[in-house]
Amino acid sequence: MSIRTRLTVWYTAVLAALVIAFGVAVYAILSLSLSRQIDQSLVDTAAKVLEASRVSRVQDVRIVTIPELDVFRASGVYVQVWQAGGALVTQSSNLGSFRDPLDAHALTGETQVTRDVTVGGVHLRVLTVPISVEGRLGGYLQVAASLSRVDQAKGLLLVILGGGGAVAVGLAAMIGAFLSARALRPIDTVTDAALRITRADDLSRRIPLEDLPNDEVARLIGAFNETLERLERMFTAQRRFLADVSHELRTPLTAIRGNVDLLRRMHGADRASLDAIQSEAERMSRLVGDLLLLAQAETGHLPIAREPVELDTLMLEVFQQARVLAKDSVEVTIGEEDQACVVGDRDRLKQLLLNLVSNALHFTPPGGRVTLGLTCKHEWARLTVSDTGPGIPAEELPHIFERFYRVSKSRERTTSASDGGKDGQGGAGLGLSIAHWIAKVHGGRIEVASEVGRGSTFSVWLPLAGNR
Ligand code: ADP
Repeated sequence: MSIRTRLTVWYTAVLAALVIAFGVAVYAILSLSLSRQIDQSLVDTAAKVLEASRVSRVQDVRIVTIPELDVFRASGVYVQVWQAGGALVTQSSNLGSFRDPLDAHALTGETQVTRDVTVGGVHLRVLTVPISVEGRLGGYLQVAASLSRVDQAKGLLLVILGGGGAVAVGLAAMIGAFLSARALRPIDTVTDAALRITRADDLSRRIPLEDLPNDEVARLIGAFNETLERLERMFTAQRRFLADVSHELRTPLTAIRGNVDLLRRMHGADRASLDAIQSEAERMSRLVGDLLLLAQAETGHLPIAREPVELDTLMLEVFQQARVLAKDSVEVTIGEEDQACVVGDRDRLKQLLLNLVSNALHFTPPGGRVTLGLTCKHEWARLTVSDTGPGIPAEELPHIFERFYRVSKSRERTTSASDGGKDGQGGAGLGLSIAHWIAKVHGGRIEVASEVGRGSTFSVWLPLAGNR
């Protein structure tokens, strides 16, 4: 459940509970006070009637004389006097032809009672007062008042409290939802902005702060922006460092290589050491080239051409080059060869294939075989480089495309004639990272299937021209 919903539900529930408690209290107090008022007026009336009545005795019969009851007509109070035996003695004229007891159940007891009764569909409050004549129960006086006005008032109050309360709670829920949405909107903005920054992989973006009041959310955004700034500075510094180092190293390396060439031509220096210098310099040169390429790829500063590339021709070129590099110690063959055209950067794609082929040549022992292949499947071209080398352990497979990652055993590899242009020194673990990146920028991917002791097959999937 979102914070917005939770806030609204809590707010509404608390308000509803308060409104209900308030309504119940008001209703109870009003009902009680109205009942008390009516009871009091009934008691007063009964007292007046009894005060004005007389008891006279004719021989042995006691006669209760009641005053003229019509005086109560205007007050809306009904009066009846019953004999203890059950006969109606008299009643107020506002009762008309009505001859039943106002409260039949009360005509047996000896104490004064007040009860709510419904007689002939009329809701009444009836006070029954026993009349004692010379210490004995002589009859009953019943005084009643209609409760219809009270019921009406109570009904109206219920409607007002219930309806008003429901409307108030509904309005409060809507306003609460609106207010909490408004209060939480900046957090949504922060989340969206943070997601956009992550998705675009762009740390230079900031969450705008201008339109926000200086509150908790603004402080959160401020802190988040500061973190981003720091991160950006660190990343830029790291990338720049990598790019700078690669760039700076390039010049002296080129110079060394130039000088070695010169020395070689002068016939003055020891050939073996010169070879070593040259090989080392070339290795460093390659490493720096790879580093620079990766650094540029990461900063997005490496232009990628978008032109039609015939993969079959490209594969043949790489095949020729591989045969030269293999120096007859490893057999290089072509397996399946379809025709395929993709859109991309010819040089980069060639570099990708060369990286895979040079790895295959490097790891395949003399007498082994490296096979290149090209097939088309649905809308994809699949370039394969298979070898009969040592294979890669399954637990290492997920890591081989990481930068500087080398399978531990491969560190001990020995110089072989089929060293795939790696000069017997082994790479720095960048070849596959570069290959992976090139495949990715072409909208493709690299898969690898390998079995220890039997060899590996690297497959590069690229979308055919017209499908990108
Ligand atoms: P390197 O330049 O060290 O070869 P890569 O990124 O090209 O770096 O390869 C990473 C690691 O993957 C290598 O060190 C090697 O252990 C393993 N690897 C790559 N290709 C093969 C292959 N054809 N046969 C066996 N292992 C391979």
